[in-house]
Amino acid sequence: MSYVDEVLARVKEKNAAEPEFLQAVEEVLNSLRPAIEANEEKFKKEALLERICEPERQIKFRVPWVDDNGQVQVNTGYRVQFNSAIGPYKGGLRLHPSVNLGIIKFLGFEQIFKNSLTGLPIGGGKGGSDFDPKGKSDREVMAFCQSFMTELCKYIGADTDVPAGDIGTGAREIGYMFGQYKRIRGLYEGVLTGKGLTYGGSLARTEATGYGLLYITNELFKDHGDTLEGKTIAVSGAGNVAIYAIQKAHQLGAKVVTCSDSTGWIYDPEGIDVELLKEIKEVKRARLTEYAAAKSSAEYHEGRGVWQVKCDIALPCATQNELLIDDAKQLVANGCKAVCEGANMPTTIDATEYLQENGVWFIGGKAANAGGVATSALEMSQNSERLSWTFEEVDSKLQGIMANIYKNISDAAKRYGFEGNYVVGANIAGFEKVAEAMIAQGVC
Ligand code: NDP
Repeated sequence: MSYVDEVLARVKEKNAAEPEFLQAVEEVLNSLRPAIEANEEKFKKEALLERICEPERQIKFRVPWVDDNGQVQVNTGYRVQFNSAIGPYKGGLRLHPSVNLGIIKFLGFEQIFKNSLTGLPIGGGKGGSDFDPKGKSDREVMAFCQSFMTELCKYIGADTDVPAGDIGTGAREIGYMFGQYKRIRGLYEGVLTGKGLTYGGSLARTEATGYGLLYITNELFKDHGDTLEGKTIAVSGAGNVAIYAIQKAHQLGAKVVTCSDSTGWIYDPEGIDVELLKEIKEVKRARLTEYAAAKSSAEYHEGRGVWQVKCDIALPCATQNELLIDDAKQLVANGCKAVCEGANMPTTIDATEYLQENGVWFIGGKAANAGGVATSALEMSQNSERLSWTFEEVDSKLQGIMANIYKNISDAAKRYGFEGNYVVGANIAGFEKVAEAMIAQGVC
C-alpha cells in the first residue's frame, strides 16, 4: 500500500463521521500523489501527511445568549487551529445552522493550502457556530457575537490566530466581535479582518474574494489566448463573494445572467443588476423574489437550477457541494469552457473529474477564492504598521497576487506532468511550502 493510501485509510477510520472533512482530505491527498511519491521515504519517516491531516488544536465551546423574548438560547462555537507552519492561523468564522466540527475541519484543512498559495505568511484555521443570523434582530446578533467572543478571545490574537468573515459573518458580526474582544482583552489590535473602514478595515476587502475570482479567471482565459469580453457567465449565490464576482465580471466585459440563494434562483438574460442585488441582500437582507418583482426581464425559480442555463463560464459562489455530477453534465452539454470556484468545495469530486475529462478548464476554490484571505493578510499588514492603503493600492496588490497564483499553479502542474490540471497544481504548490516549513521546524 502506498504512503498516501495508508494515510487515507487511517484518516477515514479516525474521522468516519465527518464526510466533508474526508472529502477534502481525499481530494488533496490524491492530487498530491506525484509530489509525495517523489519523496515518499522522507515524508513517511517524518509522518508529514499524518501531521498535516491532524489539527494542531480544536476548540469547542458553549455559546449562551438571550433572545428578544428573554429566552436563553444555546449554540456551539468552534475554532480549529489547523496548521501554523508558515504563519498565525488565519481563516473565517461561519455562522450557519449546518455548521459542525467536520465542516469546520474541512474548511480549516483547505485553508492551509489556500493560504500558502497566496505567498503570504499565514497558517490555516477556521471557526464558526451553528447559530443562524437569518431572521434575528440586531440585538440578538450582538448578544450572540458578544457571547461567542467572550470565549473565543482566550485563544486568538494578532500574532496567534486572526479570524475573518465567512457565510453568515459579515461586517455587522465582525464589528460586534471586535468590540467585545477589545473590551475583554483591552487590546486594540488586528485580531479580526473584514473590519469596518473606521476601525482598521482595509479598502477592497469586501470586494476581494469576488474580484480575485475574476482576476484569476481572466488570467486563465489570457493564457489560452482568449478574453472575458462578451462571455456569458452563470453565478450561484447572492452573498459577498457572488455580488462582487458579478460586479467585476461586468467591468471586464462579460455578462452574468444568474444568481441564487438558499431558496431559489434568478435568470436575467439582460444581465444581473448588481446595485439592485446589493440593495436586496446587503441592505434589506431579503429574498431573491424581490429581485424578480423589481426587474421585468428577470425570472425567479424555486429550488436550485443555475447550472441548467447555457453559459461560457460557471462560477459557483454559494456553498460546498452545490455543483453535482448532473450539473457538470449539463454544463458540458451546453458548451461551458471554464468552471472557477468562488465558494469552498462547491463542486463534488465526481463532478470535478467529469468536467476535467471533458476539457473544461477547472480552477478549484483553494486558488480561485484565495483573493479574500490574501486581502485579509494585507489588512493585517496595514494594522501592524498602523497605516491605511488606498483602494487602488490594495486592488493592484490583489491583482498581482492572483496573477502569481495562476502562474504558480499552472507551473506546478506542468512540473509534475499534469499540464492544465489546476487542481493538482494548486494542491502541490500550496503543499510544497508548508511541507518544507514543517520539516524545517522539527517534530511539532
Ligand atoms: P454569504 O453568507 O455572504 O453568502 C452565501 C450565499 O450562498 C447566500 O446567497 C446564501 O443564500 C447562499 N447559500 C448558503 N448556503 C446555501 C445552501 N446550503 N444552499 C444554497 N445556497 C446557499 O457568504 P460568502 O459569500 O462570504 O461565502 C460564499 C462561499 O465562499 C462560502 O463557501 C465561503 O466559505 C466562500 N468564501 C468566502 C470568502 C469571503 O471572503 N467571504 C473567502 C473565500 C471563500 P441565503 O442568503 O439564502 O443563505
